[in-house]
Amino acid sequence: MTMIRFTCQACHKRFKVLPDAAGQAFTCTVCGTKLRIPAPTTEARSIHLVCPACKTRFKVKLDKRGRSIKCRVCDHSVAVP
Ligand SMILES: [Zn+2]
Ligand SMILES: [Zn+2]
Repeated sequence: MTMIRFTCQACHKRFKVLPDAAGQAFTCTVCGTKLRIPAPTTEARSIHLVCPACKTRFKVKLDKRGRSIKCRVCDHSVAVP
């Protein structure tokens, strides 16, 4: 199973959690900073977008940069910055 790896922004301690925990709140065991466990990412970084028409959030791969994608929900075309 692929573990989610993330880093505390405050003390830079690295953590590894099960993918089930994605999106959950997490308190750093070292410095007590409240974090949000990120979704598992197996590939390179991705860009977060919000459809201007229906406000749905998307994550698109970095290689879609400069192009536009179709919103899955309302079919509006959204430019990838
Ligand atoms: Zn910390
Ligand atoms: Zn939309």
